[in-house]
Amino acid sequence: MERYLSEKGKLREVLPHYEYRPMQLKMAKKVKHALDKEKILVVEAPTGTGKTIAYLLASIEAKKKTVISTGTKNLQEQLIFKEIPLIKKSLFPNLKVALMKGRVNYLCLRRWKNFIKNPTFDWDDKASVFSSIEKWVTKTETGDRSELIEMPEDYPIWWHISSKSELCFGLKCPYFKECFITKMRQIAASSDIIVVNHHLFFADLSLKGVASAAVIPSYEAIIFDEAHQIEKIAADFFGFMVGANRIYDLLNDIKQKLSKNKRKDWENNLSGIERSIKYFFSLFPITEEKYRLKNELITDDVKDTTNNLFNQLDQLSARLHKEKDDEEWVFLEQRTKLIKEELEYILFVQDDEYVKWVEPVGENVIFHASPIDVSLQLRQNLYSKEIPIIFTSGTLSVNGSFSYFKKSLGLDPDIDEVMLDTPFDYKKNCLLYLPKEAPEPSSDEFILFLIKEIKELLTLSKGRAFVLFTSIKNMKEVYHVIRDQFSFPIYIQGEMPKTALLDRFRKEVSSSLFATFSFWEGVDVPGESLSCVIIDKLPFEVPTDPVIEAKIEKIKNDGGNPFFEFQIPRAVLELKQGIGRLLRTKNDKGVVAILDVRLRMRGYGKIFIGSFPSFPITIEKKDIENFFNRLG
Ligand code: SF4
Repeated sequence: MERYLSEKGKLREVLPHYEYRPMQLKMAKKVKHALDKEKILVVEAPTGTGKTIAYLLASIEAKKKTVISTGTKNLQEQLIFKEIPLIKKSLFPNLKVALMKGRVNYLCLRRWKNFIKNPTFDWDDKASVFSSIEKWVTKTETGDRSELIEMPEDYPIWWHISSKSELCFGLKCPYFKECFITKMRQIAASSDIIVVNHHLFFADLSLKGVASAAVIPSYEAIIFDEAHQIEKIAADFFGFMVGANRIYDLLNDIKQKLSKNKRKDWENNLSGIERSIKYFFSLFPITEEKYRLKNELITDDVKDTTNNLFNQLDQLSARLHKEKDDEEWVFLEQRTKLIKEELEYILFVQDDEYVKWVEPVGENVIFHASPIDVSLQLRQNLYSKEIPIIFTSGTLSVNGSFSYFKKSLGLDPDIDEVMLDTPFDYKKNCLLYLPKEAPEPSSDEFILFLIKEIKELLTLSKGRAFVLFTSIKNMKEVYHVIRDQFSFPIYIQGEMPKTALLDRFRKEVSSSLFATFSFWEGVDVPGESLSCVIIDKLPFEVPTDPVIEAKIEKIKNDGGNPFFEFQIPRAVLELKQGIGRLLRTKNDKGVVAILDVRLRMRGYGKIFIGSFPSFPITIEKKDIENFFNRLG
């Protein structure tokens, strides 16, 4: 890898601004070695290491068809629009790269043709967008919704015409040849590198329905970037989910398939199911938070209604089975059976490896079964492929160890690992402020303390602050009190779309931005606009969340200590993400303020601090003032 990335390497020759980075070279060598030797490797590569170029070059040199899976859209765009074109242009003009977005981004021709036979929606406000779609369908070559600029993000009809793996007929689809997913797959099949996101990757890996509905063609190596997100995403896809909409979608597809005269014969069965669903879903409470599906919720009424619903679904399957004129009936029958099986499993099957829970959505609920530990599924479906796998991210280690990360993904503790040094000078360019005295975050006084501290910090930083909260409630309370007390604007998450909000924050240097968890990672604001990161408290996950609660119980039952083995490591990784928003380039400078007294006062605070980059720590505001004065 030296010939590309060393001090006198090719990248320096071809790119005038390229800067030699020893950690980048180290990573490229390690990745290349793992790819050559068909190994699994874990690499923590802090911001500024240049990890994307490192693994791209390693994969090209290893001559292995590689899938690169990313967690955020930001990184995917960085790869597709910046790093890969740069490498192609300067070094490998013949490199073939394919981008595969999640299925739902693409039009499904079969669903579209079905939909236009009988379009059902409110024409008044949707007609103009719909006619744009009709025109677009005749000329698009990709079927990618991003070409439809006039279509709003939440346009409801897209739900009925986009591609979904569970609704895909794969090889048996009459439109298989013209299908946009097929075309995308063909391009990917002839590419050297395929860029996907974790959602698409795990959707494919966990396909329960039609195997030929898989999108990603065969590959020889995988690189997971932003690998810290994998545990949660894999759990979603290796689980089950049944909501009323899934059943209504099935019934609508059946109705669309039926000819007019046949409809009458089916009327009783279909409307009976609709009535049962309505009643069945009304038996579960609509609460603000998700809740465990405990035995006491399975009342006699639930049992009777479910029995009735299952009988109706069996009758429906039998009817569908009799229809022979085309393959579509077979898929409708399979979907009906799968819904019944999954609902039966979620409601009635005792399985200690899964947590069953209920998610209230609007007037309805969705039933979930999530694996408590994804190790088994990953071993069976991913590691069994016996191909090289690279896990990388800026945040994988806790207090200098990868133990938590490896254990959470079922990796052998002896798997090779590399922890790269940060290229940033945290000692010189950064200051960590922890308040001298503060109330406990659980106390009533905490919010008043937050208001006072954040006000003082914003005064010292003259705005230019990114304020990250662990709850919407805290964010709103602080915002409402202090928003009018400064001459610079303070923006808040939700007042406009995320990209527009970040654009404003970036451009208006003295502005500040208040946000919660969806902004803790993937936000890249280099330069003066983001000179201060303020974090309200340690980001421990809510222990009453059904999945978190089940994980805690499991560790306890296995004789472990969930606080140290699970809750602290997760909070550390989240906090490292938040802190990582501050220094994005070598020239960035600034202050991180964490307003949680537990960091200094509790023994476990050392684990957090031991996981941070080594920057100077202060408990004096005077030091912050001096720091900003030095910056000028
Ligand atoms: S192959 Fe699947 S995605 Fe493509 S048109 Fe058919 S059903 Fe839709």
